[in-house]
Amino acid sequence: MRQDKKNQVIWHNATVTRTRRETQNGHRGAIVWFTGHSGAGKSTIAHTVEEMLHQAGCRTFVFDGDNVRHGLCADLGFSTADRSENIRRIGEMSKLFVEAGIIALTAFISPFRADRERVRALVAPDDFLEIYCHCPLEICESRDVKGLYQKARRGEISEFTGISSPYEEPAAPELVLHTGSQSVEACAAEVLALLRGKEVIGGEDRQGR
Ligand code: ADP
Repeated sequence: MRQDKKNQVIWHNATVTRTRRETQNGHRGAIVWFTGHSGAGKSTIAHTVEEMLHQAGCRTFVFDGDNVRHGLCADLGFSTADRSENIRRIGEMSKLFVEAGIIALTAFISPFRADRERVRALVAPDDFLEIYCHCPLEICESRDVKGLYQKARRGEISEFTGISSPYEEPAAPELVLHTGSQSVEACAAEVLALLRGKEVIGGEDRQGR
């Protein structure tokens, strides 16, 4: 007889809890969710912040297109439905990282507000920090880090955010970074201040510097 899926999955009670992992790590787990147009600086800032956190002895991981689109989400394209599913999977994965006591930094355009809010709802309020990398489209386009805007303008890429697909600005992000006018270092410093303010990390790093 076919069993109900619900009855097939039996949860183990872990003795090693999130709290114990966080105590061992010396910081909280959290999702630091960067959103914004392509070229706004999400990856650059996520990796800069990760480097600083790592040097301070924190456990971190950056999720970006390179490590997600080729594996976990290799079957997905860029339609609205596929973008939503992409974000849902990244959200669920990030949630597991939070349980592991890790600071998960995600760098995805994540253009739809409802998709981001769905991820926010997966975890406790202070576990999801939405950071809007606000950069005028003209600047993103002039950077054209991967040559994607040119391709989108030529019609070689369809459903490209900002050109042929919408971007919905966050209504109440935890932080807005002005990545078109501020330096990378200044933006990264603001993110670290937010992490301290939300007590994800302490005032000092683990080496006591
Ligand atoms: P995204 O991940 O949002 O697509 P990237 O981080 O790949 O964007 O590219 C952003 C580009 O803009 C990089 O070449 C980076 O050096 C440059 N840049 C200039 N100023 C900033 C800033 N304040 N924050 C982030 N990136 C910046």
